[in-house]
Amino acid sequence: MVYKQTSQMFNESEQLLLESFVTNCNSDVFCLYNLPEVVKGALFSRYSRSDKSLRRILLDEFINAPEAGLVDPENRASDRLVAIQKATGFYDRVLIGYGDDSVAELGGAHIACENISNIAAKALEDSRLGISPLEKSTRYVPFNSQVNGHYRYCREPSIMGSSYGKLYEKTLDNLFDTYTQLIDPLLVWVRNCIPRDSDTSERGYNSATRAKALDLLRGLLPMATLTNVGLFGNGRAFEYLLVKLNAAPHRELRSLSQSMQWELDQVIPSFVKRAKTERGAKYAQYLSANHQNTELLTQKLLGNRQAASSTTVQLVQYDPQAEMKVVAAILYPHSNLTFEQVRAYVRDLGTSERVDIINTYAGERESRFHRPGRAFEEVYYTFDILADIGAYRDLQRHRVLTQERQRFSISHGYIIPPELIDADLVKPYKEVLDIAAETTELIAKDLPDASEYVVPFAYLVRWRVKLNLREVYHLVELRSTRQGHPSYRAIAQQMYQQIQIHHPTLVDSMKFVDLNDYALERLSSEQRIDFKLRQQNQ
Ligand SMILES: Cc1cc2nc3c(=O)[nH]c(=O)nc-3n(C[C@H](O)[C@H](O)[C@H](O)COP(=O)(O)OP(=O)(O)OC[C@H]3O[C@@H](n4cnc5c(N)ncnc54)[C@H](O)[C@@H]3O)c2cc1C
Repeated sequence: MVYKQTSQMFNESEQLLLESFVTNCNSDVFCLYNLPEVVKGALFSRYSRSDKSLRRILLDEFINAPEAGLVDPENRASDRLVAIQKATGFYDRVLIGYGDDSVAELGGAHIACENISNIAAKALEDSRLGISPLEKSTRYVPFNSQVNGHYRYCREPSIMGSSYGKLYEKTLDNLFDTYTQLIDPLLVWVRNCIPRDSDTSERGYNSATRAKALDLLRGLLPMATLTNVGLFGNGRAFEYLLVKLNAAPHRELRSLSQSMQWELDQVIPSFVKRAKTERGAKYAQYLSANHQNTELLTQKLLGNRQAASSTTVQLVQYDPQAEMKVVAAILYPHSNLTFEQVRAYVRDLGTSERVDIINTYAGERESRFHRPGRAFEEVYYTFDILADIGAYRDLQRHRVLTQERQRFSISHGYIIPPELIDADLVKPYKEVLDIAAETTELIAKDLPDASEYVVPFAYLVRWRVKLNLREVYHLVELRSTRQGHPSYRAIAQQMYQQIQIHHPTLVDSMKFVDLNDYALERLSSEQRIDFKLRQQNQ
């Protein structure tokens, strides 16, 4: 595509200065690079209050301002980035003068958090707006490696400093030993049950069967299991995340907040500094006090009652007027009437007219990536889900919805994958899970928050999910795909089936929900990889 020439002209020396920071000097569309994140934020912040172009502001107010420290006058412009700390005072003044909270969204950082527990990983991934996480997979990576003869799990300090320290280590070592011992026999069993066919390469087959064995055994991993999480996020989201971690009951999370603050201070100091000021501390106290008080109140009000249902997926709330509301939202942007008028019009429509409108709007979907638009955000569904922590770990990562869980505990029991029964490997699996329950209960008497570290992924957790119809399409179609883990595939399938009972026309366009069961989930993905590898080698 050819963009029109920009009216902004730069002389030769200006171009020389600019070219290390912008992708071009002659088009109206360009990217910034090679600049500290705080500078980019400050620059955009000035942009909104100036008639100048961004490159002109960069030149006049940043590159040519020695105080900004962008260009070292002794060196060529290419060696010009000086320490961010030196320039921070300058950018902070620019931000105070021209910025508001949203300026901190204009710069971001990649941060890696390694060797953190799954309690910490879930806390990081609980962020929604502005953060994109990636986590080491229990499907592709066996979690039984050791460092200096020790399995890699969090030695939770308050437990290790208590009389439960030895029991904690013994229980977790037991879980990891069993996980390790079961991998090979289970792999043999999987390969015997599903022999390789001529369509599948040895590479693809080995990969799919290994993934299956690791999927089946992940229930043995305790929440203390160490993992790695990489996050890309904007400054504002990180600031909130740091405050939330500081308010957490777990010591590991508060300490993680300090480490993250230290590292983020080196790349986006201005954007995250309020997390460590009195304002940040007060915010953390507010969150933590409210959490504790509400927990106490709930205990007082509901503490003695037992859960009345063990249903996996329960549709608790839906809108009886959903169809009318969605149809009105579909027509509204294309009319010039008030929303109330459109709704009144839709109320009088017959079923077939409404169906026509919904089908026209959803159109011919050729893949799950063809998502219906925002009219589907007009209605919400609330689900109560009781499923293994493994499934929760996967589904928690969705962001365009509200999810809140109860405590990780052993009180709802655990799942036993039927394959383990068929493979005659269920005895050791159950034994260590039962022992883990005893240890969890014992520790929970004195250290309820820390006891969550013992709970293995096979145990059930209850959580609430409230999501709009548009996210239902995304989540259900993605999470029911063949390559998904059977635990969350079943949840996605049930969500679909329960909505379908009440609103068949609204989910009629959900063409890519997969309701089948598969013996080897990864197989078709591996076959696709084989195909691509063959094409590359041709
Ligand atoms: C088979 C399978 C294997 C997986 N394996 C791994 C793994 O090994 N490691 C791992 O870490 N994760 C893994 N995931 C999880 C995956 O990476 C996502 O985190 C998860 O599916 C939720 O994110 P989402 O973007 O799809 O959906 P949601 O968060 O529900 O968002 C819905 C949609 O909104 C948009 N959206 C939401 N947030 C943003 C944003 N910040 N920026 C831009 N667009 C946004 C996107 O279009 C997105 O698809 C796996 C998922 C599947 C299905």
